[in-house]
Amino acid sequence: MVLFSEDHIQETNRRGRIEVICGSMFSGKTEELIRRLKRAKFAKQRVEIFKPAIDTRYSEENVVSHDSNSIASTPIDSSASILLFASEMDVIGIDEAQFFDNGLIDVCNQLANNGIRVIVAGLDMDFRGVPFGPMPGLCAIADEVSKVHAICVKCGQLASFSHRTVKNDKQVLLGETAEYEPLCRECYLRAMQNDQEQEASDK
Ligand SMILES: [Zn+2]
Repeated sequence: MVLFSEDHIQETNRRGRIEVICGSMFSGKTEELIRRLKRAKFAKQRVEIFKPAIDTRYSEENVVSHDSNSIASTPIDSSASILLFASEMDVIGIDEAQFFDNGLIDVCNQLANNGIRVIVAGLDMDFRGVPFGPMPGLCAIADEVSKVHAICVKCGQLASFSHRTVKNDKQVLLGETAEYEPLCRECYLRAMQNDQEQEASDK
């Protein structure tokens, strides 16, 4: 269990800030988001969670982490909708932030400037290793960024890359163990090379 240094986080005073939790698939991003949100809820803070309407892997109404440690949430179509729901809140959680439009960066700034604590979780890179959607921008404006890691399924080192194990070029592909595996840089590079060789021999 990784413990984050949070001595500086005000649990009770209403003070705006942006926290980003990023990493690969299976790195525990959603679990860490839920841990922070549940703790805020426990402190009687008003908490609201948003996720893109596209993420319907498990349920329409819940942010569900891989260990079923779920928390109720609101699925929304565009980042601007968050502002409509946010006014009465102390803490806003945003899950799967990589699937939102780039307007999310400005939305998070506005929320934090209005005294709301914003906690954003998302994939930092897509399966090609390219920064994903609004995530790089969110990391730039964040007060605090926590990069969490999975374990490489090939060698056991810390993993930062999500390797897609099925052939599909679409950036947005939701899935579980059947479609992705977490890999370290070395194993990811080797896997991508194998994929390319495979593709060439298929032609
Ligand atoms: Zn590895």
